[in-house]
Amino acid sequence: MSPRLDQVTPHIRPDLADVPAYVPGKNIPGALKLASNETTFGPLPSVATAIAEAAAGINRYPDNGAVELTGELAKHLDVAPENVQTGCGSVTLCQNLITIATRPGDEVLFAWRSFETYPLATWVAGANPVQVPLTDGRVHDLPAMADAITDRTRLIFVCNPNNPTGTVVDADALEAFLARVPSDVLVALDEAYIEYLRPSQAQRFDAIELTRRYPNLVVLRTFSKAYGLAGLRVGYAVADPAVTNALLKVHVPFSVNSLAQAAAIASLHAAPELLARTDAIATERQRVTGRLREAGYSVPPSQANFVWLDLGEDAIAFARDATEAGVIIRPFAGEGVRVTVTEAHENNTFLDFAEARAAR
Ligand code: PMP
Repeated sequence: MSPRLDQVTPHIRPDLADVPAYVPGKNIPGALKLASNETTFGPLPSVATAIAEAAAGINRYPDNGAVELTGELAKHLDVAPENVQTGCGSVTLCQNLITIATRPGDEVLFAWRSFETYPLATWVAGANPVQVPLTDGRVHDLPAMADAITDRTRLIFVCNPNNPTGTVVDADALEAFLARVPSDVLVALDEAYIEYLRPSQAQRFDAIELTRRYPNLVVLRTFSKAYGLAGLRVGYAVADPAVTNALLKVHVPFSVNSLAQAAAIASLHAAPELLARTDAIATERQRVTGRLREAGYSVPPSQANFVWLDLGEDAIAFARDATEAGVIIRPFAGEGVRVTVTEAHENNTFLDFAEARAAR
């Protein structure tokens, strides 16, 4: 007799039971959402038109290789098209790098705290995350990361600026680190927030130029943040063709949809206008950091479109109080909160709350 349907338990890899699902920033209607580092600006008219035109053809599959977008990116970055691989958000490229680099039991090394996808995708692949604490200043401890490399290390993520602390590494420290990484270990430099960077002399380097000297270096970037296309999911990797070819093999077919490809191309054409908006964010970031510090908060210097507040055990209560005040931010239990920096009037809503709470 066949079992009743409700008694059948499908086999699911038992180790997945211990892997938490990715939890994105909450969205409460009417509340101010400063939890996901999005831009508040809607698409430019030229980008909206490109999307509408592409929508007329969605009965067809998109270009699997995103050939036109890849060519535009190559021109924009002054590399060969073979050096570029697009993906459905750079988060997919993080997953795909783990897929091409690791087998179960191998190690993926990264700083902690950093982007949640690194450990989650590593667990899903059956590989082992190795987390190296940030320094007290919440910066990547690159010498300690180099010390943590073993003969099982296959991939290292360096998130610059780091999500969620906004901190960046110095050029010299990065070069010294890369020189210590064995040439067969991939290093992914995740530059999701690079357009917001206003580096000091010591923090200035050209990651794309570094990929020419380090064939094991992969630069990850996205259209989700400064380019304002978070809802369309498109990111890209820049690397040696050995890496981009491997990424192509593991990518989900047609994973960058036709609207995303068209919007990304139109956004590259409008790059000067879109990137000009990041100036206002950089100015606001300084103002927000200054006011928070004056109110007594510990805030590391951020080079991204968000700031980090070291709150320790108060993080969850702080975020709950912020939600009650109508502002959704991102708490990290026992550590702190991350707050997106946007336009002045929105930042002020958060600052007013944070100052009032500090004065309580
Ligand atoms: N890297 C970092 C550091 C991020 O913060 C994010 C988005 N939160 C991503 C990658 C992924 O961005 P997307 O998939 O939207 O391109």
